Amino acid sequence: MALTLFNTLGRSVQAFEPRASGKVGFYGCGPTVYNYAHIGNLRAYVLHDVLVRTLRRAGFEVTHVMNITDVGHLSGDSDEGDDKMVKSAQERGKSVLEVAEFYAKAFFQDLQRLNVAPPTVICKATEHISDMIDLIKRIEARGCTYSAGGNLYFDITKFPAYGELARLRLDDLKAGARTEVDENKRNPHDFVLWFTKSKFENQALVWDSPWGTGYPGWHIECSAMSIKYLGETFDIHAGGIDHVPIHHTNEIAQSEAATGKHPWVKYWVHNEFLVLDKGKMSKSAGGFLTLQSLIDAGYDPLDYRYFLLGGHYRSQLQFSYQALESAKNARKSLLDRVIERINGLPPDAKPEKVSPGSKAETYLSAFNAALEDDLSTPRGLAELWGLLRDPEVSPADALAGAFDMDQILGLALKAEAEKRRGFEEPQELVAEIESLIAKRGEAKKVKNFAEADAIRRTLKERGIILEDRPAGTVWRRE
Ligand code: AMP
Ligand code: ZN
Repeated sequence: MALTLFNTLGRSVQAFEPRASGKVGFYGCGPTVYNYAHIGNLRAYVLHDVLVRTLRRAGFEVTHVMNITDVGHLSGDSDEGDDKMVKSAQERGKSVLEVAEFYAKAFFQDLQRLNVAPPTVICKATEHISDMIDLIKRIEARGCTYSAGGNLYFDITKFPAYGELARLRLDDLKAGARTEVDENKRNPHDFVLWFTKSKFENQALVWDSPWGTGYPGWHIECSAMSIKYLGETFDIHAGGIDHVPIHHTNEIAQSEAATGKHPWVKYWVHNEFLVLDKGKMSKSAGGFLTLQSLIDAGYDPLDYRYFLLGGHYRSQLQFSYQALESAKNARKSLLDRVIERINGLPPDAKPEKVSPGSKAETYLSAFNAALEDDLSTPRGLAELWGLLRDPEVSPADALAGAFDMDQILGLALKAEAEKRRGFEEPQELVAEIESLIAKRGEAKKVKNFAEADAIRRTLKERGIILEDRPAGTVWRRE
C-alpha cells in the first residue's frame, strides 16, 4: 500500500511510513462534552474513521486513541473566556460530571449511528490528572515554565521551534492579537499548564498538585494521554483545522519540551470546516445542527455520512438540507443498485473476492488509488458507482468489489441493502408477501391478469414493489 497524506507539518502530501512496521499509533482530539456534538464536529470524527479504516484494510494494526475533554477547556482556546464545562453545568443546574456523562453518551451514540468504528482507547481528562501532573513536572524540569499570579505557564521563548506547525511568525507572536489579555503572561502565546488561581470562583473540580490546588490547562491533556497510550513519539495526530494555530501548536511545544524528542508526531492531519450558508457553525454560539435534528427532519445518519464522503476532507463543505436531500436520494439509488446485483446473483454464488483480471478489479484498484491519494472519498465514491453500474461487471464481482470498498466508506451497504430489500421485515409480513407473490404467479399462469395486477397494486399501496425477473418475482421496499 502506498498511502499518502497531506501533512500539515511541512504542508505537503507525503508518503505514509509508520514508525514501527505494521503498526500505527493514531490520536484524534475528541469532543468537549458540555453540549451535543454539532454536525461540523462529526465531520472530524467521520474523517478519523475513514483514515483508521483505510489503514486497517491495508493490514495495519491501528491503535486509535480518543480523549474526552471534561475539564479545563475555556471558550477561547488560549486561556480566555468562560470554562465551557462549568458554564454548562451552571446553566443546567447539574454537576460537571453529570453534564460530561450525559453528553459523552450522546456523542458515542452519534458515532455509532454514523457507523464510526469505536476507538481502541477512550480516555477522559478527569481520569488522567496524575499523568498530566507528571508531564508538567518534566516540562518544569526542562526549564520551560514560570509561575505568575498563582498559575503555571509554558514559556514559549524556551522552545525555539514554537509555531512550526502553524508557520507562526515571530512578529505575529509578539503582536498577539488576542481579545482578552492575561496579564500574567510574559508573551501572549504563553499558555497555562496548571491553574491554581482560577478566575472562576466556583471551579467545580480541583486537584492537589506541586503548584497548588487547581486544575489543568486544556492542551496538556492531549499530550499526557497520547503519550501514555501511544508512547513518546507516534504516527498520526488529527483534529479540525482550527486546532493548528493554538491547541496543536501548544501540544507539540509541551510534549517535545518534556521528552526532548522531535518530532513528537510524524503526520498531522486536519479537516476543513463544515459551514452553513449563514457561516461558521459553533457549539458555544448556539443555534447549531445536531445529528438528531437531521434524523428528526427525516434523514438517516448514513445519509449524512454519504454527504460527508462526497467532499474531500481538506475542502470546506457547505451544509444545506438541499445537499443532504441529494445525498439521501443518491444513497437510495446506490442501495437499489446493490439490491439489483443481489437479485441478479446465480443461486449458489457467494461474492467474496473480485475475480482476478476482471473489470471489477480495475474499479477496485482505482478506488484504492483514490483513497491512498490523501483519502479522496469523492473519487472513491465515483468508482463505487462505476462498478455497480457497469453492465460488463458480473453481479458477483460487483458485490464483492462494493463490499470491499465499503470497508472504508462505512455505508453498511450489505446490511442497508438487505434492510431495504426486506430481509429484516417481520416474518409474518415476509410470509404474507411471499404467499401473495405465489398467488399472483398462479393467476398469471391461468392468464387472470386482472387479479395479478390487483395483487401488485395492493402491495404497492403498502410500499412493496414487485419485480419480475427471469429467475422469478422478487420484492423490495419502495
Ligand atoms: P470540540 O468538541 O469543540 O473540541 O471539537 C471537536 C472537533 O470538531 C475538533 O477536532 C474541532 O476542530 C472540530 N470542529 C469544530 N467545528 C467544526 C466544523 N464546523 N467543521 C468541522 N470540524 C469542526
Ligand atoms: Zn487535543
